[in-house]
This record gives sequence, C-alpha cells and structure tokens, in this order.
Amino acid sequence: MPWSSPSRLDQSIGCPASCVLPKAPDVESSSAQWGHEVHAWKDGKPPTKRLEKWLAEGGYPANIRETLWPGGEHEVILWANPDGHVERLYELPEDRSKVDKWSMFYIIDWMAEDGLVPHLDDLKTGRFPPASATQNWAYAWAYLRWRKHVDQVLVSVTHWPRYPKGNQPTRVKSELLDREQVMAWWGGVVIPAQRLAQGPLAPYDYRPDPEPDGMTLAAEWPNANGYCRWCRSKPHCPEMLHVPKETE
Ligand code: SF4
Repeated sequence: MPWSSPSRLDQSIGCPASCVLPKAPDVESSSAQWGHEVHAWKDGKPPTKRLEKWLAEGGYPANIRETLWPGGEHEVILWANPDGHVERLYELPEDRSKVDKWSMFYIIDWMAEDGLVPHLDDLKTGRFPPASATQNWAYAWAYLRWRKHVDQVLVSVTHWPRYPKGNQPTRVKSELLDREQVMAWWGGVVIPAQRLAQGPLAPYDYRPDPEPDGMTLAAEWPNANGYCRWCRSKPHCPEMLHVPKETE
C-alpha cells in the first residue's frame, strides 16, 4: 500500500509514524457511502434513487453538474513513483497493496485544461469544509510534475454538504499556485516527513528508551496529537501507551 495519499497527507506530515504502523480495517461510514454516490453522479453516472430525491428536494437546477464542472475530465488518476516521476493512469491497479510503498496515487476529482490556467477541483460532501489545503497542494504537485511545461495551477474545493437539505455548493480554498512554491513545499515539508517514516527512527524500530543521541521516537511526532482521534493505527501505536486513559 502506498505510504500516504493526498487526503491522508496532512496526517502523514504531522505523524510520519502513522504511515508505517499497521492499520485497523477501514470501516466505511454512511457519510463516506454518500460521498461515493455523489462523486459517481458527478463523474456522469445516473444518480442513485436517494440522490435523485435529494437533488429534487434541494431545488437544484437540472444543469448544476455542468455549471459546477463545465467540460474537463473527471477522476484523473496520476501516479508518482518513488523517484517522483509522475504519469497518468487510466485505471487503478487491481491490488493496490502490491504497488511500491513509497509511491502515491492522486485521484483528481475534476481537471480542466482549457482555460488560461489549468484548474483542479476536489469535491467534499462532509458537513464541514476541510481544515487544510494540503490535499490540494498534493494534487498541484502531482499535476505540475506531470505537466512539466505548466508554471501555475488553480486548485479548489467544492464543498457541498448533505445537510441541511438545499445547501448551496460553494467553491472554497481556491488558490493559484506557482510551480516554485509547490516544489519548495514538497521538498521542505513532505519529503522530510517521508524520510522520517522511512528512516532509522521509523516506528517499526520503536523503542521506548531514549535513542543514543537522546532522542526518542516520540520527539519525531511533534504534531501527532491533532490526528490521533481518527487514526486507524491507534490500536497499534506505541505512543498511545504514554497517553493516560480518560476517566469519567
Ligand atoms: S495514534 Fe497518533 S501518534 Fe499514533 S500513529 Fe496515529 S496519529 Fe500518530
């Protein structure tokens, strides 16, 4: 399985250990299932019965899909190999657990290349707008590595929550990103996180005692706390041994 994904990258940067510790099985929530239905409709499939009802009851215009995503391509898959070479794939490998761990997939919800600046958009159907723009920066990085002649890319999030019914979709977190700033971010932030996950202090070498140089692995996870609540590695995480249990 790849070490991270655009949607997990924030956590991977905050806690590189979470990239390599074993994970509890992914249990799909009903909101994730809803997200899949909306995405499939966005990509051109007929809406499910409940989505059809939701669209009608929300009073959305019949052409809302075309208005939000005029032309372009949906579900564009880019794949970065461990050396940072990026290519486009037309389908995901059947078994993603067999691909190189230090590679990564980028599934861009929508891509339009017919304007002055290419535009990448990510659809979010959750209740709250995403807190971080890291995911979009990851898409921008992959896109700019793939399209080597392009210097700028516009990235955005379309936030269209299920509740309350009739909510208008809004385009949030639109950013015009330059090649230079995206590459600098990748080299200065993402690569160091990846190196930590790969490196000699990687969690599979976890020892509760201080390392010879006085560092403990915990010192390498400075921002983990914000991610622990939803982390699928929690049941296997040695760091959790140091967290006092909550009492009533
Ligand atoms: S539970 Fe927290 S510290 Fe442990 S791997 Fe997950 S994010 Fe990191």
